[in-house]
Amino acid sequence: MSEWKMDNDIERVLYSQAEITEAAERVGHQLAHDYEGKTPIILVVLKGAALWAVDVMRYMEYTEVEFINVSSYNGGISSSGEVSLVTDIQSDVQGRDIIIMEDIVDTGRSLKFMKQLLMDRGAKSVKTASLLDKKEGRVVSEDVEYIGFDVPKAFVVGYGLDYSVDGKELYRNLPYVGVLKKSVYAQEHVGLVDDAITPTH
Ligand code: 5GP
Ligand code: MG
Ligand code: MG
Repeated sequence: MSEWKMDNDIERVLYSQAEITEAAERVGHQLAHDYEGKTPIILVVLKGAALWAVDVMRYMEYTEVEFINVSSYNGGISSSGEVSLVTDIQSDVQGRDIIIMEDIVDTGRSLKFMKQLLMDRGAKSVKTASLLDKKEGRVVSEDVEYIGFDVPKAFVVGYGLDYSVDGKELYRNLPYVGVLKKSVYAQEHVGLVDDAITPTH
């Protein structure tokens, strides 16, 4: 690994910058094809999906970009189960085709919450494009139509995904997705680690 200090906190890289660039191009082209002749709204789920959304949308034709922020994680490494709306969308979604851009779908609760909100407001269609799909983590059944990578059930960081250290959301700017070293979080989450972190193969 390089001389970056952050790299020393990573146990191993799951998806390199080059692999993510390739995945973004693949998903971007798929979306461009599937939404040909339409002007969808790319709904970026803050903050984690920002990097992924930028990379995917550059391969698409006419789109609008909107942002939403929902919270379910409370900065920890396991889901709290409750989803709340932190920052609402700024435009009317009535009659519009929406593409939700996610960093990762885990339990599916955030996605379910957002889909319900959009359908209640009269969206014409709602589909999801997620950098990562952690299928083993599902608690509510939610499909992800466009997937960068199927990720094993481990706590990952990088490329938008954070881990909070002393209230600071770190690692979002890592150019790759990786698994954190246990030493980084073990101290703070004694007892949570075995439940939330399943070793990857
Ligand atoms: P869900 O509602 O599907 O359980 O969780 C969605 C949110 O949980 C994601 O947008 C992300 O913020 C957080 N999350 C789930 N798994 C991980 C993970 O492995 N790493 C990080 N950093 N966040 C995660
Ligand atoms: Mg997210
Ligand atoms: Mg987070």
